[in-house]
Amino acid sequence: MNATAHRSGPSRRLFIGLVIGVVCGLIANRLGADTPLVEQAVAVADVIGNLFLRLLFVMVVPLVVSALALAVAEIGDLGKLGRLGLATLAVTIVLSGSAVVIGVGLVNLIRPGDALAAARGDEQAATATAETGRLLAQATGMKKLRDILVDMIPQNPLQEMVGAIDGSSKGNGMLAVMVFALLLGAAIAASPEQCRPLVGWLEAWNTVAMTVIGWGMACAPLGAGCLVFATVARLGFDALVSLFWFAFTVLAGFAVQLLLVYPVVLRTLSRFRPLDFFRRAAEAMQVAFGTSSSNATLPTALRVAEQDLGLRRDAARFVLTVGATGNQNGTALFEGVVVLFLAQVFGVSLTAGQQLQVVLMAMLAGIGTAGVPGGSLPLVAVIAQSVGVPAEGIGLILGVDRLLDMCRTVLNVTGDLVVAACVAGDGRQG
Ligand code: ASP
Repeated sequence: MNATAHRSGPSRRLFIGLVIGVVCGLIANRLGADTPLVEQAVAVADVIGNLFLRLLFVMVVPLVVSALALAVAEIGDLGKLGRLGLATLAVTIVLSGSAVVIGVGLVNLIRPGDALAAARGDEQAATATAETGRLLAQATGMKKLRDILVDMIPQNPLQEMVGAIDGSSKGNGMLAVMVFALLLGAAIAASPEQCRPLVGWLEAWNTVAMTVIGWGMACAPLGAGCLVFATVARLGFDALVSLFWFAFTVLAGFAVQLLLVYPVVLRTLSRFRPLDFFRRAAEAMQVAFGTSSSNATLPTALRVAEQDLGLRRDAARFVLTVGATGNQNGTALFEGVVVLFLAQVFGVSLTAGQQLQVVLMAMLAGIGTAGVPGGSLPLVAVIAQSVGVPAEGIGLILGVDRLLDMCRTVLNVTGDLVVAACVAGDGRQG
């Protein structure tokens, strides 16, 4: 049986769950987000949605460590790994570079920030002080480049694993965990015979992680539907209306990247026809939309890459596991747009050099952003501060962030699959 036909059932159920979530959310929002019935419904949906998310997150660290270490060990030859790594890096730079340039180009063209006077900006920014304050504190607590580099190799990998998901690690969190897994895989590849038991152990962990996540995914139509319902019921689309031009700029950027850049790259560098690729990648894209988390979508993306796209397993594992944290096109685009939007709102004029700095920092931030809901916000504050844009202004966009997060995560995950399609090769040719 054709793999895609085989897998279209779960994907359709998930799609239906998401649509029901959006429609019910809109109805609830119309009824009034603060009426007791809606409040209760949102609270229940929130609990169900978060239980679903936890069922995915609970296995993310074992999954990342085992998938990445096994991928490197299976590739075996370090020269081959180096070539795969370089190819991955090259396509990643092209995709995230184009994403940020598109975003920055559109924000200069549409100038969504001009519509909001600075005074109004101050007033609205002040309404979100608690959350803004937390983000600013996180931003000022960001480390220096030297420390980031040194912390790439963790002193204590277990400590990094503990703080990898909730951002409480003192080092580089998930990035450091990934470096540890790469080292583990490389060392296994250097002495495969002696390390056979360790490979068996990692394979067992990988199976366990995929099994638990599989149970989670069986609840995806309900869980992701509840998450979307709670977000839409709370926010409705009114938040999007008051920031219409900002949201329009971000979504237009996403659309150009998705409908223009990815198809061109797929046609040039992979064996896939774009429409066929999107059809096969649909399930991962829907999970990304429902969870707003690249990390939570990783298991689905791995399965889609192997079963639906037919990519080579070891290479796809490597590219997708690294990409879930390290390649975030939607996030990079979003971060560039927000900083320039805030500059417009507060009347800070940025030179071409400063705009270039924003582009480069947004590309780097796409690597450092945790693949969790709202992961990009602290980095937006860092970039804004670095070019003299008042980072407090981030409060302005918090209201629409969750809705845009669902969309940028779709791009993040699709971007990873595009890179994999370009560099991972055909798994069915042995
Ligand atoms: N939610 C995004 C992701 O997981 C990260 C972000 O942009 O906030 O990919």
